[in-house]
Amino acid sequence: MLKKNDAARPLRPATAMVHGGTMRSGFGETSEALFLTQGFVYPTAEAAEARFKGEEPGFVYSRYANPTTRMFEERMMALEGAEDARATASGMAAVSAALQCSVRAGDHVVAARALFGSCRYIIETVLGRAGVACTLVDGRDLEQWKAAVRPETKLFFLESPTNPTLEVIDIRAVAEIAHEAGARLIVDNVFATPMQQKPLELGADVVIYSATKHIDGQGRCLGGVILSDAQWIAEELQDFFRHTGPSLSPFNAWCLLKGLETLPLRVAQQTANAARLADALAASSKVSRVLYPGRADHPDAEVIARQMSGGSTLLALDLKGGKEAAFRFSNALEIIKISNNLGDAKSLITHPATTTHKSLTDEARAELGIGPGLLRLSAGIEDGADLVDDVERALASV
Ligand SMILES: *Cc1c(COP(=O)(O)O)cnc(C)c1O
Repeated sequence: MLKKNDAARPLRPATAMVHGGTMRSGFGETSEALFLTQGFVYPTAEAAEARFKGEEPGFVYSRYANPTTRMFEERMMALEGAEDARATASGMAAVSAALQCSVRAGDHVVAARALFGSCRYIIETVLGRAGVACTLVDGRDLEQWKAAVRPETKLFFLESPTNPTLEVIDIRAVAEIAHEAGARLIVDNVFATPMQQKPLELGADVVIYSATKHIDGQGRCLGGVILSDAQWIAEELQDFFRHTGPSLSPFNAWCLLKGLETLPLRVAQQTANAARLADALAASSKVSRVLYPGRADHPDAEVIARQMSGGSTLLALDLKGGKEAAFRFSNALEIIKISNNLGDAKSLITHPATTTHKSLTDEARAELGIGPGLLRLSAGIEDGADLVDDVERALASV
């Protein structure tokens, strides 16, 4: 039987990331065990009946829950201060399940328009087909959130900082507007990481991660997680989750558990590197602006000071020479790799206008501040001096 490692006192984050949620088998293994199993066997038919009735604790099928996956969920709950969680096969599975499980035909959703493309597809197209209307607003303008509310508004959805321009939305203020309207606020907290922003403490009702990003952080596997109060998970998410099957593979859950052990160390190093790169880039005459949620010149510096800790692992920069300069700069980098992923141990750079945001109209891109010279840089855990040398060398070639 599995034994839970319940500490007598609440653990601080770095400790919780190493020990939180661990369940040890009778062998007393040091590392978390990988239960690569689809199902479970029962000693008797009576035991199976009791397990299915929920009269006896235990696992029944890995689409519902699995011991390794549960360890990952419990470790995330410890980090986030959430009562319950469900791990999913990808970040998009998390977004899609959290949104779909809690709306019905005739409901209405309000979302900040600076959305990851696939999130926009779920809100506009998938929910639209099911008869759920949506309104997209400028997330930083609180009056727009208020004006968008209708009697049938059930959900608010936002990402902050946003992709790729790293705008920061006032989560506490938006949560208050949502609650006044009788709606729930779901926050996609990927860009902030669990280390830099706590949406549940700021009043959000549900928080979502793509664990593919910083939580794995080593380019290996996709994953996601939905965290909320026990009642919402039991009443809204649980049946949808069990019967539609977005469940995380136990193997990936095991990788993500090991990722969590080093998350605080990696995010600290990535943030220090991003801050150094932001300052080096801001000093260049070839760069028209640097957007970094750790610099005093960030347009949302006041909100950032209130709701985030320690800056960001990401930054955006605009090169004066437009697309040609952005491509020349990216191609001249030797250490920083061209990739649309983020949160990795390796530093990665992407040109949103031609990759992640290419399907938007020119008008929609302009609205989001995504010009032809804009690049998004995800800082890795390399030595910061090598990264600064790399960008300075590349800038010289622009
Ligand atoms: C990557 C990402 C997702 C989707 O996650 P996957 O694991 O790729 O499915 C959702 N939201 C944001 C903000 C992301 O960066």
